[in-house]
Amino acid sequence: MNNFSFSQSSLQDFVDCPKRFELRYLLKIRWPGFITDEPEEVRRSFILGNRFHLLCHQFFTGLPVDTITQAIDDEALLEWWNNFLAWGQEALGEGQYLPEITLHTHLAGRQVVAKFDLLQVHGTGIRIYDWKTSPTRHARSWLEKKIQTTLYPLVLCLAGQNLSGDPTLHSPENIEMVYWFAYHPQNPEILSYSRYQFDEDRQYIEELINQISNIPRGNFEMTEDQRHCRFCTYRSFCDRHPDPVLTGLDEENSFETALENLAAAFENQLDEIPETWQNP
Ligand code: SF4
Repeated sequence: MNNFSFSQSSLQDFVDCPKRFELRYLLKIRWPGFITDEPEEVRRSFILGNRFHLLCHQFFTGLPVDTITQAIDDEALLEWWNNFLAWGQEALGEGQYLPEITLHTHLAGRQVVAKFDLLQVHGTGIRIYDWKTSPTRHARSWLEKKIQTTLYPLVLCLAGQNLSGDPTLHSPENIEMVYWFAYHPQNPEILSYSRYQFDEDRQYIEELINQISNIPRGNFEMTEDQRHCRFCTYRSFCDRHPDPVLTGLDEENSFETALENLAAAFENQLDEIPETWQNP
């Protein structure tokens, strides 16, 4: 058993491009080149997004709203923050709020981790909140395909037994996930969960982990879908220069994809990746 923890970022990387997974998590090649399209806009949004997450963390750990608000020195960030406060006043009800909480479990014999923006333990269940700060209000169908949507409720069901004194609260039927959009505050996406979905998700994630574990190093393929290359930090490494017309097909979501790439690369720089990966 090695110490590598699969996360939504690493699994999403594999789904998008197996080679990216290998470069980032196995070979540990970090940030080999620059992305030439819209780097400043994306990077600024990435930094602001992180700052917004910090504001929410401070809010849910009890820092006074005025103190938080007075420290905001960016117009866009202040707008998101005011959006959040206006929405939260109506939408956030009673319960125990657990910001920036990490849960660990095992799937297919491997460690799996989920880092939640916020969990709300309320009277009849547990709600997962995730803050999205990209300009796009993603469609439900897009969100449903993301590994995050699959993995987070699954990990909560498997590892949430100590979050409350009631052992039924983390059952699939008592869990829901809320994506909240800073640019579209009154239109969050709420996804309910079920035992059927739990079984499906568990099987899918376990198959994915087994698939990854059985690929020998050096055999992780580059994606054939070059839309994934557009904002990938490994573009120069892979010598991939996707046609803008082709990538334009996915324009609606490319900004979020770019943010995810930056977040994954940044997260991987921070995380200590163990040397004990045991791929054949
Ligand atoms: S540039 Fe394209 S092929 Fe290379 S790792 Fe990134 S997504 Fe994969």
